[in-house]
Amino acid sequence: MKYDAIVIGAGSMGSATTYYLAKQGCRVLALEQFNIGHELGSAHGVNRIIRLAYAEDPAYVPLLRRAYDLWREMEQHAGERLLFITGGMDIGPADGTMVTGSLRSCREHDIPHEVLDAAEMHRRFPGYQVPAEMVAVYQADGGFVLPERSIVDHIVAAQALGAEAHGCEGVIEWRGEGGGVAVRTDHDTYYADRLVITAGAWAAQAVPLLKGVAQPERQVMIWTQPLRPELFSPAAFPIFNMQAADGHFYGFPIHGVPGFKLGKFHHRGEQVDPIRMNRECDREDEAVLREGVERYFPEAAGPTLAMKVCLFTNSPDGHFILDLHPEFPQVSIAAGFSGHGFKFATVIGEILADFAIEGGCSRWDLSLFRLNRFVG
Ligand SMILES: Cc1cc2nc3c(=O)[nH]c(=O)nc-3n(C[C@H](O)[C@H](O)[C@H](O)COP(=O)(O)OP(=O)(O)OC[C@H]3O[C@@H](n4cnc5c(N)ncnc54)[C@H](O)[C@@H]3O)c2cc1C
Repeated sequence: MKYDAIVIGAGSMGSATTYYLAKQGCRVLALEQFNIGHELGSAHGVNRIIRLAYAEDPAYVPLLRRAYDLWREMEQHAGERLLFITGGMDIGPADGTMVTGSLRSCREHDIPHEVLDAAEMHRRFPGYQVPAEMVAVYQADGGFVLPERSIVDHIVAAQALGAEAHGCEGVIEWRGEGGGVAVRTDHDTYYADRLVITAGAWAAQAVPLLKGVAQPERQVMIWTQPLRPELFSPAAFPIFNMQAADGHFYGFPIHGVPGFKLGKFHHRGEQVDPIRMNRECDREDEAVLREGVERYFPEAAGPTLAMKVCLFTNSPDGHFILDLHPEFPQVSIAAGFSGHGFKFATVIGEILADFAIEGGCSRWDLSLFRLNRFVG
């Protein structure tokens, strides 16, 4: 049978793309090399931060507004909560990129916000004990979304519209064929008019021209037992991103599993191959993360409860890659989400469905994400 579209990789972006393609009436097949919902890619670990005051670039803000709307639509559709609003803080020196970038997005897009000094931060949210020279941009729409549930909900919603999803079926190769594509897996060969590649850390295996452009990096998350749990409940503790002298930390209130969750961007700077990498956590991983907990959130610094390895896939400039394949316009590519992509999964699914159906997306200015800034 020939499909209208095939999606390689039913993770964060692929599951949403499958849904938005099916919603537009396409016969769609999603192919996933592992289980539908697994812990070997970038979409596990209970929650992911979502925030509107986007320090990375104001160009993301219109997409974020759409993403929030679509998260709420999917919650209605699935009948479960996926988006939790806690407020969010972008913390750092007043002249640092985190704070100035966040303020720039607020100003350019009229986003309501407050600037708090370290004492005010601690007074309002006593779990925070950051150095006196730090300030925070507090933005009330910050919060988190649930990656594992998102994948399940998007795939179930797509299946209800007639989509097929195959887990445990890895794509070995694809080729352009007469304006369409042939996709060979370890099980069968499938044909479609369009192909969408959302392969996460395996992007360069699926699209060789992404080698060196979509670079996987090993990350670790930690959960610790708070000494005063009431300071780290969702009502008392906004999510945060913090540009500190010793690195970029991010964290969450207690949710879903026991403990306060913290991570460090570019953890130990380990560029890896997702097939051969070390997926165990060790004492050095723990020490890197506990240092952040103990220094800035001492009331959360009880025993370690859990650690998990996960993968970033970094582009050279930290911005996403969303484009058509330069040689095969029937193939769309989404890659290089650089540790900040998950919150956008809904809107990126919608954009990739437009790419596949219309050969482009005229709703948004996507010039920041063009592949030709690196290749061709
Ligand atoms: C520790 C950590 C914390 C993060 N925190 C945040 C956050 O707070 N907020 C935020 O917005 N983002 C965050 N991110 C980033 C975000 O999770 C990623 O940007 C996003 O999940 C990337 O989605 P993806 O679809 O590209 O990859 P994935 O979700 O990993 O999906 C790719 C899928 O493709 C499959 N695949 C690959 N090759 C093949 C093949 N040949 N055949 C079949 N299937 C294949 C893989 O198995 C996988 O399931 C974080 C990431 C990590 C690791």
